[in-house]
Amino acid sequence: MTMRLLADPAAHRPNGRPLLVVDVDEVVLGFIAPLSAFLERHGFQLMPRSFAITGNVTRAGGGQAIGGELVRELIAAFFAREVENQPPVEGAIATLARLAAATDPVLLTNVPAAQAARRAAHLAELGVGAPMIANDGPKGPALARLAQAARAVGGDELPVIFVDDGPNHLASARGAVAGVRLVHFVADPVWFAMAPTVGGTWLKTRDWDAVEAAIRRLLDGDEPGAGVVETARAP
Ligand SMILES: [Mg+2]
Repeated sequence: MTMRLLADPAAHRPNGRPLLVVDVDEVVLGFIAPLSAFLERHGFQLMPRSFAITGNVTRAGGGQAIGGELVRELIAAFFAREVENQPPVEGAIATLARLAAATDPVLLTNVPAAQAARRAAHLAELGVGAPMIANDGPKGPALARLAQAARAVGGDELPVIFVDDGPNHLASARGAVAGVRLVHFVADPVWFAMAPTVGGTWLKTRDWDAVEAAIRRLLDGDEPGAGVVETARAP
């Protein structure tokens, strides 16, 4: 399987079906668990004290959190060394493959640009066929461009679904696309439990079966009422 790495949102050719934009880290590929293991191999520790990386990394053995600049360097080193070693999230790849027949899936990831091609190759090797865009910063602007192009083909009412673990990206998406269905997906059970509630969330889950079920109901015109549906696979 090959995967198209798109230079930017304008390079996507919408197929007229509902737009399904999906994050990668902690949604399609594990991030928290391999990052924690990487940090431990290098004498650091990720403490699950709140839903953030910065402020929760200490030297091995605990103590004070290390500074944000060092955290950014460690995360950059993680992507540089480990981008091919991030395991798929349970159910993600099979679900995306099934939903590709009914939607227009696009992966929108904030992987560093230098590792984008390696990530795309890794995802292709795992069986992901959807195109991928490497984004930088809040995702609302890229999502808005994708949605505008999709609705120009599929109509103003075309559903747009956005799946991400990051509250800031979900909030950015909410402000950028009218009627966007926000799926707050956090694969790791401990981090799922700490994830704050994001206003306007359509579904909050760590279970790809629940994502697929909600999207199929939406496509069948049998959308459940507004509200947050909390579902979690047993850890
Ligand atoms: Mg993510």
